[in-house]
Amino acid sequence: MDFSLTDEQEHIRSSVRELCAAFPEAYWQRLDDAEDYPTEFVQRLTEQGWLSILVPEDFGGGGLGVAEASIVLEEIHRSGGNAAACHAQMYTMGTLLRHGSDELRLRWLPQIADGTVRLQGFAITEPDAGLDTPAITTRAELRGDRYVINGRKTFISRVEHTDLLLLLARTTPLDRVERRTDGMSVFLVDLREAGGAIEHRRIPLMFNHHTSQLFLTDLEVPRAQLVGDEGRGFEYVLAGMNAERILLASEAIGDGRYFVDRASAHASERVVFGRPIGANQGVQFPIARAHAAVEAASLVRFGAASLFDAGRECGAEANTAKLLASEASWQAANAAVTAFGGSAFAREVGIERKFRETKLYEIAPVSNNLVLAFLGQHVLGMPKSY
Ligand SMILES: Cc1cc2nc3c(=O)[nH]c(=O)nc-3n(C[C@H](O)[C@H](O)[C@H](O)COP(=O)(O)OP(=O)(O)OC[C@H]3O[C@@H](n4cnc5c(N)ncnc54)[C@H](O)[C@@H]3O)c2cc1C
Repeated sequence: MDFSLTDEQEHIRSSVRELCAAFPEAYWQRLDDAEDYPTEFVQRLTEQGWLSILVPEDFGGGGLGVAEASIVLEEIHRSGGNAAACHAQMYTMGTLLRHGSDELRLRWLPQIADGTVRLQGFAITEPDAGLDTPAITTRAELRGDRYVINGRKTFISRVEHTDLLLLLARTTPLDRVERRTDGMSVFLVDLREAGGAIEHRRIPLMFNHHTSQLFLTDLEVPRAQLVGDEGRGFEYVLAGMNAERILLASEAIGDGRYFVDRASAHASERVVFGRPIGANQGVQFPIARAHAAVEAASLVRFGAASLFDAGRECGAEANTAKLLASEASWQAANAAVTAFGGSAFAREVGIERKFRETKLYEIAPVSNNLVLAFLGQHVLGMPKSY
């Protein structure tokens, strides 16, 4: 068994690290203060092909796997940056790639790969359904050669920064399906053609992340923009979630490493009571413990990624990676706050920004409670709670 990275993976790590060095913490802090989008950073990632790394070469992408993509995202986060502004451009296209018609794939994937079209929005969550996705009520009705969609979505990220939006809607109401997970469909919505049929309202958040409520009124989507078969949307979305879980786990791992790097450096330099604070076990051990947790999560992440890239079932591993990575980054965040003391709260130091950012991974894209329920019920066979 060989756990080391390949030469290509090491090259990806060092290339992304070099790119990120041009976007220091002061860049991210400025954006955080202004709640601004990292346009220049996203442009640079696009030009260097990192956002199309998962698109097959036949469609103009890098043709690499989730393991490689996870290294890209980890490095962005380890540098003090945040990939949430654009990470979905990497993986949202997976649903289209795996389930879209040849016509849809040929039309969109090459443009997604070269960055001329952005597909970095996906709309699943609804205010009255929450984590219970089958309870969504956004309705798509086929009228002639178009679907007409009405409903509401919430917490939909990057709608102002995407051209296409992957949208999950009910094509058959919940009370008319055999299984709750039946009757939902996925649509590729071209927002540039939506006009006034989609109203969006930004939700102010605790960190610099652009997310909105969407109000859909008689939104018309050509029938050709239905992805795969009508009624099988939930199945398609679930298939894409394993990649998302692994990739977001990698961001949390990057955050965890950022905190451990910064905390151990600070603890070695800051002298109080005549010695570096890191000589005190009350400071040193939480950082060392967080480091161990991040390393463990990283191994599980690569295990899950290798299964995904081999086309094998990886639900248990992807969920476990997400759980462990989000807990490890939060543990590291708290150890860093303890090590930095009062200066952890000073905005210019950067720790408080990352502290706010990394909390998200315990909640989204799925709550850790639901991950535990998945492991308890589907992996360990215990009774169901829902
Ligand atoms: C910054 C941000 C960006 C997002 N971006 C997107 C996006 O682009 N697209 C999109 O579709 N969604 C997006 N979301 C939504 C996100 O996926 C949901 O917020 C998340 O899945 C949790 O759902 P909820 O907030 O509705 O929680 P709720 O369903 O209201 O649940 C609240 C809490 O209750 C607990 N809980 C609920 N049910 C159970 C149960 N059966 N057992 C145990 N505990 C339970 C969980 O711990 C959960 O955290 C985003 C959210 C945020 C905060």
